[in-house]
Amino acid sequence: MGRPRQDPVQRFQAKWAEADTGYETPCHFWLAVKDQEDVGEFWLDGEMRKADRVAYEMVHGPVEGELMHLCNVRECVRPEHMMVTEMVGVVNE
Ligand SMILES: [Zn+2]
Repeated sequence: MGRPRQDPVQRFQAKWAEADTGYETPCHFWLAVKDQEDVGEFWLDGEMRKADRVAYEMVHGPVEGELMHLCNVRECVRPEHMMVTEMVGVVNE
């Protein structure tokens, strides 16, 4: 194989900057590509993914349903600022 693959987590962390948007804690404001609705986009595993979802899934694992931004900042990719609004299944330990 050719050049070594860059760790997606590192690649992701380089694409946002902390920004105070008036929420309890600073937002992680997405600086790279965004879609028409200002939601960040991130290339991962051969497909374009929503950056907010990627951020959330890096912490919580794959999620079903929609992500809601508690801070109301669509460009924000801080996992603590998101919650899943439609739970398809309840996870039990
Ligand atoms: Zn936020």
